[in-house]
Amino acid sequence: MAIEKIVITNIGQIISGKLEAPFIDADCVIAVDGSITNIGNAKDLDIEDATVCIDAHGVTLTPGLIDSHVHPVIGDYTPRQHQLNWIDSCLHGGVTTMISAGEVHAPGRPKDIVGLKAMAIASQRWYENFRPTGVKVLAGAPVIEEGMVESDFKDLSDAGVKLLGEVGLGSVKAGETAAQMVKWARKYGIQSTIHTGGPSIPGSGLIDKDVVLEADADIIGHINGGHTALPDDQIICLCESCGRGIEIVHNGNERAGLLAMRTAFEINQAERVILGTDSPAGSGVQPLGILRMIAMLSSLGDIPPEIAFCFATGNTARMRDLNSGIIEVGRSADFVLMDTAQHSPGKNMLESIHQGNLPGVGMTIIDGIVRTNRSRNTPPATRLPEII
Ligand SMILES: [Zn+2]
Repeated sequence: MAIEKIVITNIGQIISGKLEAPFIDADCVIAVDGSITNIGNAKDLDIEDATVCIDAHGVTLTPGLIDSHVHPVIGDYTPRQHQLNWIDSCLHGGVTTMISAGEVHAPGRPKDIVGLKAMAIASQRWYENFRPTGVKVLAGAPVIEEGMVESDFKDLSDAGVKLLGEVGLGSVKAGETAAQMVKWARKYGIQSTIHTGGPSIPGSGLIDKDVVLEADADIIGHINGGHTALPDDQIICLCESCGRGIEIVHNGNERAGLLAMRTAFEINQAERVILGTDSPAGSGVQPLGILRMIAMLSSLGDIPPEIAFCFATGNTARMRDLNSGIIEVGRSADFVLMDTAQHSPGKNMLESIHQGNLPGVGMTIIDGIVRTNRSRNTPPATRLPEII
């Protein structure tokens, strides 16, 4: 088989996705057959025989962004807002991986146990088999219902299901039952997340901090509510009382999101902070949602933007055990090339984001393949990378 070699030169700055070392001092990245093979200075690397060569023209390279909380249903269509191509639109916002928190908007979603298992397995398959514009959609996340037993979780796991949908969106609302099912899921390698806060839409319910702590899911899903957040003291208590993922979403309360982030820094556990959009939802689809979260947390929360990028890349990758999200040899070649938006204040892209502005996306790459050129959704970037 022919080797696919992609070489990106003249990179102005590389954001690694790693909190402990957010920048990489290099101007060139090489990937072969979808995996990163070299990171360094072009003059020291073998940049010959490239299948695709990109001149970054000085822009910033980041890992592909990861949306930790989406609600896909089928293909690139969402029945929630009757919208087509929403996943492709999010790719234009730099998102290369999405993680399902349950395919809850499926019309007529089965709630009987054999039906919900069948749907989870089918969802996992159809997103594995069909990636909209190359985006990795990790789906097949069943919503647990009363009456499920240990063997149901084993069956799901054996069939390839690796996620639970938001605990609390189904009939299991009590901490004790949820805790038992989360344990079974974990035993069979299925990661769990829990709905946190008030009801999202008619038909869903309140999940407060006592239920979240007792259920002990791997991720405190939308700790800032989706939309309705818990009272401040409960959000602080959730951060301080357990070591689970602190997920902040776009489709939530922004003030509560800032509180959760600040609390994570106060207790020295910023590695727990991950970002999602929680879209599609009642508030729609937010193609730039993850970039907006990065700009919001960095500007209003006054943290370095490169750290906010880690929340949407390396932190999520580590917590979710993904091979993307970090610029490192051996990892997936999933990149976003971006630059200061035209006419944005700030002397460079990071300063402009720190002032609350979005960057302009110039190119997205997944598995070493260019998926999009200049974004149709972000403000236009000042400089654009170019395939040469
Ligand atoms: Zn939710």
